[in-house]
Amino acid sequence: MKFCPECRAELEEVELGGYRRLRCADQCGFIHWGNPTPVVAAIVEYEGKVLLARNANWPEKWYALITGFLERDETPEIGVLREVKEELDLDSRIVEFVGHYPFPELNQIICVYHVEAWGTVRLNEELADYRLFDHDKVRTWPRGTGPAVRDWLDCRLG
Ligand SMILES: [Zn+2]
Repeated sequence: MKFCPECRAELEEVELGGYRRLRCADQCGFIHWGNPTPVVAAIVEYEGKVLLARNANWPEKWYALITGFLERDETPEIGVLREVKEELDLDSRIVEFVGHYPFPELNQIICVYHVEAWGTVRLNEELADYRLFDHDKVRTWPRGTGPAVRDWLDCRLG
């Protein structure tokens, strides 16, 4: 973002409330707060295993949770079940809410749910592959949804 969306003047970087932000240099009042976007993510349990999926744009060995953005009239609970249906073609229900996890690199706040899913997996075009893991074989990753999976596994595996 380089120009003010209200008046087209240049934006300048200023510190406000302890964060670097972009403000209209012409003082029209516009401030780009850069607040995070909510994202929903599902730890999918399917046939007694943990289902992780590989995005079509990701490297060969990356498998992670089903994630997506909310539609304007959705609660996170409805959104996460919709994403599981869209991406895997599985029906699912929420078992529990795992937690909210900030993802500063992408300026997101991720609402993570454990869902139980059933049906026949049919991947949509966003996904290239999926794998089923025994709980003790899931290897977590340091960023994004990884800490949520770690917390969830820690509770279950002790
Ligand atoms: Zn402006």
